[in-house]
Amino acid sequence: MEEIKVDVLVIGSGPSGQKAAIQAAKLGKRVVVVDNGLDPGGNCLYNGTIPSKSLREAIIDLTGFYDRNFYGTTPYKMEDINLSSLNSRLHYVINEERNMVYRQFKKNGIQWILGTARFENPHMILVLDHEYHLSYQVEADTIILATGSKPRNPSNIPFDKDVILDSTRLLQIEKVPNTMLVLGGGIIGSEYASFFSALGTEVTVIDKKDHILPFIDSEIGILLQTALTDLGLSFRGNEEPELVKRIDNRAYLKCKDGSEYHADVLLYALGRQANVDNIHIENAGVKLNEKGYVVVNSLFQTTMPHIYAVGDVIGGPSLASTSMEQGRLAARQALGAETHQFPTFYPIGIYTIPEISSCGYTEEELKELGYHYEVGRAYYYEIARSHIAGSNVGMFKLLFHAETLEILGVHIIGRGATEVIHIGQIAKSFNAKIDYFIDQVFNYPTYAEGYRVAALNGINKIRLRK
Ligand SMILES: Cc1cc2nc3c(=O)[nH]c(=O)nc-3n(C[C@H](O)[C@H](O)[C@H](O)COP(=O)(O)OP(=O)(O)OC[C@H]3O[C@@H](n4cnc5c(N)ncnc54)[C@H](O)[C@@H]3O)c2cc1C
Repeated sequence: MEEIKVDVLVIGSGPSGQKAAIQAAKLGKRVVVVDNGLDPGGNCLYNGTIPSKSLREAIIDLTGFYDRNFYGTTPYKMEDINLSSLNSRLHYVINEERNMVYRQFKKNGIQWILGTARFENPHMILVLDHEYHLSYQVEADTIILATGSKPRNPSNIPFDKDVILDSTRLLQIEKVPNTMLVLGGGIIGSEYASFFSALGTEVTVIDKKDHILPFIDSEIGILLQTALTDLGLSFRGNEEPELVKRIDNRAYLKCKDGSEYHADVLLYALGRQANVDNIHIENAGVKLNEKGYVVVNSLFQTTMPHIYAVGDVIGGPSLASTSMEQGRLAARQALGAETHQFPTFYPIGIYTIPEISSCGYTEEELKELGYHYEVGRAYYYEIARSHIAGSNVGMFKLLFHAETLEILGVHIIGRGATEVIHIGQIAKSFNAKIDYFIDQVFNYPTYAEGYRVAALNGINKIRLRK
């Protein structure tokens, strides 16, 4: 066993751990990262964001998803699209990203240790290699916990490798299912449901709420549900699962109201849980909340002042995007560098087909808060770029203060939403008014032009009233 002493120890090499480590190294500290995967990158790279988004892109391309609007059929035969063709792209992307993580660690002089970290005491961890041998003892002044999360696997759900699946297991299936049940209409469930629908799988999403993604702006939610129905997806709301089992190599689901479903596979997408079970957290003196997430203050400091926690292990918003910034901020705070609080408003990207992105208040929140607001809308069918690209399903929705014209919320559904949202995000963060979009020239034809069309729509409502 090797004994080492470092300034900063980061446990976990997902987005939050990577950015924390790089920031600490940039501040001149000796940094070690420990991760129990085979390579650095975390769940984000091997089980979450990157594989799911690569799969999405491959499905859109191979099925000629947007080309169908012009040519009627896909240039490829749907029956020829198999998981090996989809996965080859996924593996290529993972490989490129993995190499990039290695390069960044090397460039910044970050030592990388493979193994499972567990606390011996609040300043020291032991690392066990894959054969459970003690390989390192690492002592550190600052520790950043970035161990992420995993799918929740309740004991009454008989998970296996090919029929009853969670989001990690789903990536291992060998053939495209003809039918699929998705338990849970949250982000992960809805994204995968839409991908497989686009691929031709008959998908049914089951949720106890009466509509999919209940937290998004409800008008955007209605447009999403319509688009998903057009894709062939069925949604069954107000349903609660009572029994899940495998019968003759197929999935069986019975709901509390007695309704029964059968499908080739079932994706259980009802929540995730923090990765804290193998780390002997009690030896660190770090407190967990009632849901098992690490308790932190607004500076990501745990109940032990020299131990920070970032990313999924602290609970929501549980995004790679927010995790990265949490990691960077925590390292700066821990090392006494000038820093700022985590932003109140940040974009959320939901990669359903069609994708959704939003930043700021929803219309429902504005109503609840009593704002005097107005709405500007632009539909994708009003935007030339959408016709050119064959993607005329979508909408820009700008919410702004009816008197001051200040932008309060930006919600977009449609192709490119997760990219163009940043224009609205930046405008909002500089407290811009809606007429900012009117006074600017936008490239044409672009999706971004939707901001201008929506702003004009909104401002005309105000003018008409005067
Ligand atoms: C299917 C899916 C799709 C997603 N899509 C998106 C998306 O489009 N956009 C987005 O922003 N977010 C997305 N997310 C969320 C995103 O992947 C997570 O928020 C992000 O991975 C969290 O990063 P993290 O740094 O907290 O840790 P993780 O990426 O979870 O990595 C933590 C690492 O720590 C390791 N570890 C755990 N315990 C130990 C230990 N004791 N010792 C050593 N190592 C340990 C783990 O093995 C893992 O490698 C998605 C998630 C899923 C599941």
